[in-house]
Amino acid sequence: MKRRDFLSTSALGLGALSLSGCYREENKKNINVNRGKKVTLKLATSWPAHFPIMGTGVDEFAKRCGELSGGSLEIKVYPKNILVPALQVFDTTSAAQIDAFHSGVYYWKGKNSAFSIFGGMPLGLTSEEMITWMKFGGGMELWRELYGKFNLYPLIGGSTGPQMGGWFKKEINSLADLKGLKMRIPGLGGEVMKKLGVNPVLLPAGEIFTSLERGTIDATEWVGPALDSMMGFAKAAPYYYTGWHEPGSILEITFNKNRWEKLSSEHQAIITAATEEMTGNMVQKFRYENAKALQELPKEVQIKTFPKDMMDAAKLALTEVLEHESAKSEEFKRVLASYNEFAKLNKSWDDISTKNFLNIRG
Ligand code: CA
Repeated sequence: MKRRDFLSTSALGLGALSLSGCYREENKKNINVNRGKKVTLKLATSWPAHFPIMGTGVDEFAKRCGELSGGSLEIKVYPKNILVPALQVFDTTSAAQIDAFHSGVYYWKGKNSAFSIFGGMPLGLTSEEMITWMKFGGGMELWRELYGKFNLYPLIGGSTGPQMGGWFKKEINSLADLKGLKMRIPGLGGEVMKKLGVNPVLLPAGEIFTSLERGTIDATEWVGPALDSMMGFAKAAPYYYTGWHEPGSILEITFNKNRWEKLSSEHQAIITAATEEMTGNMVQKFRYENAKALQELPKEVQIKTFPKDMMDAAKLALTEVLEHESAKSEEFKRVLASYNEFAKLNKSWDDISTKNFLNIRG
């Protein structure tokens, strides 16, 4: 912005302040003003009650909506399987049987392959970068457009930060060691692993440890030290690999679109502000809790990094997966183009800023 433009914009700002009377007139015309009437919304989650960080994050979100609205907005949180099964929250909200849900975007790839990009990309953007793309690089407009087709209105509802690559029963010294392994790994990461010779399987959280212990699976990914240590994976698979497939998975607070549009402008603003607060808190909490839990992992755990030939092959496989999905879906192609445009723009700055700082500070 030129200095003269800045000055004239500031002058407009002052003008607007002196017209606050007119603003009040405008407000009266807004039928969406809340007049102290209490609104109660039902929100279902894909997590058990008060599940650490994700579940407690949504509990706090609901509490903040109540506080910020002076009690006129009540959000009732229903943990998984109480009102709705964990992975039916999308359909149930879409059909207006409940008002909203808190879940992970990666679960809905079957609805539209493009949704997997909003959930996060293997070898791609971190949480902070994903949120920047969504808020300022066009990602959110695309997400709302595509969710709109399911009568849904999404907001970012937290993010996990970088996840670990998973727990393996045997050490992986080269790409060849992956051949024939059975691994619990969902999403685009799973598709890449499939191209590397892995047999990716999907298992509900409650069955992962037993499957690993009995050798039904050879490896599993989950989240990071804070949540993984609660699952006891170290006892069955002591090789704990650093991450590549989920650098910043996005969680969502998504509303039924008609329900959202009927909310007052104050309640919409309160919910939006509370999701922003929730997202910041969740990313910071994951960082802190993961750092602490890493120090407390059992002694038998060996932290490893995947071999270079495997990561080189993963990069090639990812390109193939993305090309394949783009050829099948025009929407996937559009979302990927927006994501790539931001990723390129971001890289030029990141290389000489964050990445450079991390390299030099040692
Ligand atoms: Ca994961």
